[in-house]
Amino acid sequence: MVVVMSPGATDEDIANVVSRVESVGGEAFVSKGVVRTIIGLVGDIDSFHHLNLRTLPGVADVRRISDPYKLVSRQHHPDRSTVWVGRPGHQVPIGPDTFTFIAGPCAVESAEQTLESARMAQSAGATILRGGAFKPRTSPYAFQGLGRAGLEILADVSGATGLPICTEVVDARDVPMVAEHADMLQIGTRNMANFGLLQAAGESGKPVLLKRGMTATIEEWLMAAEYIARRGNLDVVLCERGIRTFEPATRNTLDISAVPVVQATSHLPIIVDPSHAAGRKDLIVPLSRAAIAVGADGVIVDVHPDPESALCDGPQALNGRDLRDLASAVRHLPAAVGRADASTLTRG
Ligand code: PEP
Ligand code: MN
Repeated sequence: MVVVMSPGATDEDIANVVSRVESVGGEAFVSKGVVRTIIGLVGDIDSFHHLNLRTLPGVADVRRISDPYKLVSRQHHPDRSTVWVGRPGHQVPIGPDTFTFIAGPCAVESAEQTLESARMAQSAGATILRGGAFKPRTSPYAFQGLGRAGLEILADVSGATGLPICTEVVDARDVPMVAEHADMLQIGTRNMANFGLLQAAGESGKPVLLKRGMTATIEEWLMAAEYIARRGNLDVVLCERGIRTFEPATRNTLDISAVPVVQATSHLPIIVDPSHAAGRKDLIVPLSRAAIAVGADGVIVDVHPDPESALCDGPQALNGRDLRDLASAVRHLPAAVGRADASTLTRG
């Protein structure tokens, strides 16, 4: 942390900062320039925060030079992490060596629709099935999901296909129930800053897919991941799903640069959701290609056996033929960026 003194700061102001820093066990290194003095602080950053140094006379600015998040930062964990998803005997990796393909319906609507979606996903090479039983809808009048019955359908479909399940949880009180049925808990864009939910997911014992808040900065997103990690759960996968901008041509704007920016600062895996970013199925192939090329650790896409009748997000859902087209359009790309296909790598 660095304290920048204002040009008019007196020797007394400088000494005051130094003595406060020393009072909490820190060290202060004073560097006097012609116009300004800066003071470098070494020690426990949290105790410096409590000093409210910015309020002291003569202080112009206080700047952090280390990341505000710790557990998810690469500063203390330089190697990028792999998160394994699934049950003992069949776990699928999401991480830097592989490319993981996740697909499934936006919402679980029925046992048949979910099983059919899962078969479509599996035959296209997906290794994890997504599907919402609890749907956080913008409108309270829109389909809200089947709830617990949807979780049971997902568990049955997982049993029938062997695919691990990723499903959203929207209420901290539901975390134990969702964790009992699912292999990975999704926290959606609308709940990225629901800190009680993040903490509950941190105690769930299951990997978490943390979507980026639609108006969140990368730093806010990583701080949200830190809430989960602080509860002892480092199995967090980040998901870039588009952010709100002024551009109405797509549902959201896919921030493709978030992938390498996150990878430079955090060890957590990061995947891309082109479906919720674009809101249009015609963009799924090019955005998936972009995601692989930029170095994402996977993609997650919406599929539906009959998108016209989907109860949620039909316009962005791929049908069976679209999904096969997507799989063949991207098939050779992971190898071109040095990644193995995650479907060939499972662990017991
Ligand atoms: C979803 O994946 O079903 C979903 C609702 O996504 P998001 O939270 O990114 O809108
Ligand atoms: Mn959706």
